[in-house]
Amino acid sequence: MDEKDCLFCKIVRKEMDSNVVYEDDEVFAFEDINGRAPVHVLVVPRQHVANLEEIGALPDRVTKRLFEVASEIARKLGVLDGGYAVRINNGKDAGQEIFHLHLHVIGGKRLGMP
Ligand code: AMP
Ligand code: ZN
Repeated sequence: MDEKDCLFCKIVRKEMDSNVVYEDDEVFAFEDINGRAPVHVLVVPRQHVANLEEIGALPDRVTKRLFEVASEIARKLGVLDGGYAVRINNGKDAGQEIFHLHLHVIGGKRLGMP
């Protein structure tokens, strides 16, 4: 799957609608369309990388920024004090559906490990 056909690349380029939570030159965040908690946001690099195995293609500052943005969103959406999960589904057994690396930021209710 390349950038032309990638759903999250289309969302980042605003060729597809999403509820944008945050954006800058390198990182983009939007509400998960099937939110499993009161807060469920996806944080993605604008640059297409499929999974953690390709993370070396991202500049280090972008990788760091993904996590900073996750924290900033948690603060903005009011789950910093209660706590939140940052999750990456990587590959088949983890249930990865979209092969554009993304962080799930999930909070607003009590979460457990799967
Ligand atoms: P995963 O690849 O397993 O980490 O999950 C992909 C996530 O993307 C799922 O939680 C979906 O609900 C979400 N998703 C799929 N299509 C869209 C979309 N068009 N807009 C927002 N979220 C989406
Ligand atoms: Zn992509």
